[in-house]
Amino acid sequence: MENVTCPFCGLACDDLQVDVAAGMPVPVANACATSREAYRRLAPVPGLTARVGGTPVLLDVAVARAAQILGHAINPLFGGFATDLSGARRIVQLADRCGAVIDHMNSTAKLRNLLTVQDAGWITATLAEVKNRADLVVLLGTDAVSRFPRFFERFVWNEESMFDLDPRSREIVYVGQGLDMRAGCAPDGRAPTSIPCRVDEIGEALGAMRSLLAGLAPQAQVVAGVPLPQWAELLEKLRNSSYGVIVWAAPDFDFPHAELTVQTLSALIKDLNRTTRVCGLPLGGSDGDFTANGVLMWQTGLPFRSSFATGIPVYEPHLNSTQRLLDSGEADALLWVSAFNPNRVPPRTELPTIVLAPPGANFEREPDVFIAVGTPGVDHAGHYTRTDKVVALPLRKLREIGLPSVEAVAASIEASLQQAAN
Ligand code: SF4
Repeated sequence: MENVTCPFCGLACDDLQVDVAAGMPVPVANACATSREAYRRLAPVPGLTARVGGTPVLLDVAVARAAQILGHAINPLFGGFATDLSGARRIVQLADRCGAVIDHMNSTAKLRNLLTVQDAGWITATLAEVKNRADLVVLLGTDAVSRFPRFFERFVWNEESMFDLDPRSREIVYVGQGLDMRAGCAPDGRAPTSIPCRVDEIGEALGAMRSLLAGLAPQAQVVAGVPLPQWAELLEKLRNSSYGVIVWAAPDFDFPHAELTVQTLSALIKDLNRTTRVCGLPLGGSDGDFTANGVLMWQTGLPFRSSFATGIPVYEPHLNSTQRLLDSGEADALLWVSAFNPNRVPPRTELPTIVLAPPGANFEREPDVFIAVGTPGVDHAGHYTRTDKVVALPLRKLREIGLPSVEAVAASIEASLQQAAN
């Protein structure tokens, strides 16, 4: 099958060639190692569809038990939330019905960006703009490829662009330590520039660059462990670029109050846009996080970590975190959805737990209810929002092994709740 969309990271590459002849999809062209491994771990597990208390049961029995748990819960928590567009829509509907808090498995990282956007907005680029326009790509605290393996292949060293730009002439700068910079070497062997700096000190460097741009020379001669002239040089590159792009990945900003670094970066980008064009490119979108958040946003106007407990959606980014609600004992039941990756299991908890995940999921503690679901883009068709959020790519069904979708299971749980209420 040609032009298959891969749902295993936010790039959602739509050019894979997948062999589906043997009933198990095997990528044969354009797949990266992450994608090949993701398809491999979705191998069917014979006879496994649903369990209650560890005992295999019919799907209807598992659905009825899940509805019973959610029907009795006062403060249910819906975590994971890794699914496609239709699955997310049904999960939001179910959360509304149950008065649940809804959160995503990636929300801790995602909030580093979200808090900035909510506070002051930002200027970002699409992947098509990077591919066709960027003459300078600066990577902050990330090498991109560790999490988004084909980023350089598809969007930086592309052979052609729509305008006059020769993609091979792009300049690449890495800011950070321990980054894999091999992908940043130009096709002609030109090495990227590297500024080794601790990731949690990048904010300090961005602040210094803002001062320099404003004509206020910082007194310090070394900022974030790097001589000030190197930051001045990077600033000049950005000022002289005709379309600079600054890339970061929120999961790599894993330190306290990293949202302040994103905030300073956004402010610097705005400052630079007074005289040239510079955009941010926040890489994300894995495990369907942008897909699920998009659905929640257009249905409620609010992002992850919103609660339906009062009958209207209420957003509280700190109080409604999955881990806090579990640690504090405020939640009394957990519904966990992980349709793309059987290894993303729920955090350890003694609460009554329902898990919707692919058949290969292994648990430290068996959930009260486990329902094996299909993976969007493998077991059923669907839609998946790419990292730049401007495109929802169609996912295709590649095999039939009888697994229901998250959408179908959530609809059945809701129907069972309705039946019990009548
Ligand atoms: S880069 Fe991401 S979307 Fe592309 S093939 Fe690899 S895992 Fe799939």
